[in-house]
Amino acid sequence: MRALECTPTVPGYALARVAGGTRGGPFTMLRLTHRPPPELLGEGWVRLRPRLAGICGSDLSALRGHASPYLGALASSPFVPGHEVVATVDGGGGRWRDGSRVVVEPLLHCGVRGVVPPCPRCAAGEPQGCESVAGDGFAAGLQSGYCAATGGGWAGEMVAHQSQLHEVPAGLDDRDAVMVEPLACALHAVLRNPPGPDDRVLVVGAGTLGLLIIAALRHAARPRRVIAVAKHDGQSRLAARLGADVVCAPDVMLRTVRFETRARLVEGRAVAPFLLGGADLTFECSGTASGLQSAIGCTRAGGTVVMVGMPGRASIDLAPAWHRELSLRGAYAYGVETAGGTAVEPPRRTFAIALEAAQALRPGRLVDDPLPLEDYRRALTRAASAGSRGAVKVAFAPQGEG
Ligand SMILES: [Zn+2]
Ligand SMILES: [Zn+2]
Repeated sequence: MRALECTPTVPGYALARVAGGTRGGPFTMLRLTHRPPPELLGEGWVRLRPRLAGICGSDLSALRGHASPYLGALASSPFVPGHEVVATVDGGGGRWRDGSRVVVEPLLHCGVRGVVPPCPRCAAGEPQGCESVAGDGFAAGLQSGYCAATGGGWAGEMVAHQSQLHEVPAGLDDRDAVMVEPLACALHAVLRNPPGPDDRVLVVGAGTLGLLIIAALRHAARPRRVIAVAKHDGQSRLAARLGADVVCAPDVMLRTVRFETRARLVEGRAVAPFLLGGADLTFECSGTASGLQSAIGCTRAGGTVVMVGMPGRASIDLAPAWHRELSLRGAYAYGVETAGGTAVEPPRRTFAIALEAAQALRPGRLVDDPLPLEDYRRALTRAASAGSRGAVKVAFAPQGEG
């Protein structure tokens, strides 16, 4: 099969950082190969042919050498990236019929790894916190797409456990379906941190995750006001269309949040201006140090900052988070939701909620025309500059051409 294969190496990381840092460009650790497809890993494993596979911000970070080394320790190489996948079932021992159109829930937790008894987090119904991901059962990997044993969506074939699959309703096309994974991330972040009816919510960053957070806030919660920060014009328009009450550019974020929340502006001599007062609840979706710093500086005392975008090593002044007694929380992936949102009858898998939400939201409108694997350089460059080009999600069509 044809596959895009990533072999992270320390020199590769250094080179990718240098090259990526100056030109936003080359992805030195990735190559297009012909290799045997991954083996089925046991009973209940299914062979898949990816129809579309998205490019996630975390993929770009990993390929450019910007991702945290922490995550490198929870992957195995060489791996085929691609964890946003809609695929056709094509054989294997699972309970799925050949030809079924499915989305992959990529978490590689105890249930998927055949670890019995499951780890404490899986036993508690929180598979996203699984403690077996460093290599119990089979090779290390947080998710399909970071694991040498399962393969990922950027290839002609991959394998998955039958419990990872969700049937795609006929009403959703492939582009809607490839957005179900990021939509599940957004719904999980919102359902675990539901805004109250009086809350003014700030969303920092308007790439795929930021836009889907706005959509999820409107779909599954009832905040009083949603203030979005978007860098590019196209993102601003989409943020407003998806339900933000106010959209501003990063350079006027402080002024806008101050006006919206009647906060006080403080301008010190040796510090960037910040607010006293601010948003009740902030979703940081850029995954950047500056995004997190301004999220903390625009959230009121006693409020919550949710890290949705994948952060890395960063130099951040945490004094305001300390002084404000902020809750600084991570929101990783999805799992089972039990309470909190207006749209949840407990308990349900986040993916089931996302599949339902996708039918109302039709997130496929945020997906560019898919590209074949051969065009990976173009695809990755497009994904890295999506915002400035007025695009959101770039995806591969792994069965296309040849
Ligand atoms: Zn992702
Ligand atoms: Zn586990």
